[in-house]
Amino acid sequence: MHEIFVLAEHRQGELRDVTLEMLTLASQLDSKVTAVLLGSGMDAFASKLASFADRVLVVDDPMFANWNAINAQAALVALINKDKPHMVIVPNTGQGADVLASLALELGASFTSDIIGLALEGDKPVATRAYYGGKINGRIEFKDAELYMVGLREGAIPAAEGSKSGAIEKVDNPVAADATDRKFLDYEQPAIGDVDITQSTLLVSVGRGLREDKNMPMVEELAGLMGADVSGSRAVVDAGWLPADRQVGISGKTVKPKLYLALGISGAFQHVTGMKGADLVVAINKDPDAPIFQYADYGIVDDLLKVVPALIDKLKEMKG
Ligand SMILES: Cc1cc2nc3c(=O)[nH]c(=O)nc-3n(C[C@H](O)[C@H](O)[C@H](O)COP(=O)(O)OP(=O)(O)OC[C@H]3O[C@@H](n4cnc5c(N)ncnc54)[C@H](O)[C@@H]3O)c2cc1C
Repeated sequence: MHEIFVLAEHRQGELRDVTLEMLTLASQLDSKVTAVLLGSGMDAFASKLASFADRVLVVDDPMFANWNAINAQAALVALINKDKPHMVIVPNTGQGADVLASLALELGASFTSDIIGLALEGDKPVATRAYYGGKINGRIEFKDAELYMVGLREGAIPAAEGSKSGAIEKVDNPVAADATDRKFLDYEQPAIGDVDITQSTLLVSVGRGLREDKNMPMVEELAGLMGADVSGSRAVVDAGWLPADRQVGISGKTVKPKLYLALGISGAFQHVTGMKGADLVVAINKDPDAPIFQYADYGIVDDLLKVVPALIDKLKEMKG
């Protein structure tokens, strides 16, 4: 049985969701799944990963307290050369992209980045990549190699529940000396505005279908009556109707509210990537073919300038 290494990503004391997404993907490939965890003080993360992997390889060393691609690559080269996995999956994030191409080059691996799907056909992987904003999916075949590597896009694969109980193996840090040509200095958190939409339970999210800035108070009134926060698409942020910290999507925030009410949002893949983890999606759009309806649990095909005032009236009536 082939072995697949999955590079776990954590940042600022949090295991990133993409790690579980990668492990879920690897588990679908009928292979032995090994999570590789580089960090410092990693016991809790190792236990969590053990429920998603057949094996967790942990290098627990202060050298890995903060991300440094040079140290990470040196450790991965040693671990991969020792165990010779068939494939390595890294996240297609800032961290993963920092090592993917360079590591593949060093090891002579056949690789591709930013995949949204992966299968094994015989021994060889076949990956899926999205093109033209998600309108077309491409099939990526790999040049024959001893090792294959891919970078998985965040949010592309829903994480399953962990049902394994993998063995946790602590290994000595194979990297003799800390990198001198790249140093971690500080982590700079982007400023969070008055509302952190990543923590919102209810979101009323607005798109270009709102037409004009002067219609924003209507959206705010609806959100106020629902006890929801207001977010939006990039089109709305670019138009200056909402501040940048309210943008949902690939270049904005990833949100996971219980309810996501999408008003006049088309559902471009860049937007959907940020909101498809919502428990319940309700979309209002006058175009019955708008892609957002593919992700919506409930939909209203109508003019939001008619529907939103009706919702406001109904909520006011219900609240007495
Ligand atoms: C590199 C890159 C990164 C990007 N990152 C993001 C991102 O993070 N987040 C993001 O949102 N976008 C992002 N985009 C932009 C994305 O591709 C879309 O252009 C954007 O999401 C469209 O916003 P929208 O749905 O509000 O507008 P539109 O696509 O213009 O859709 C408006 C919708 O409103 C409907 N509508 C119009 N009038 C009404 C009405 N009266 N009542 C009801 N419905 C109505 C229309 O039918 C349409 O479906 C990115 C693009 C690129 C290239």
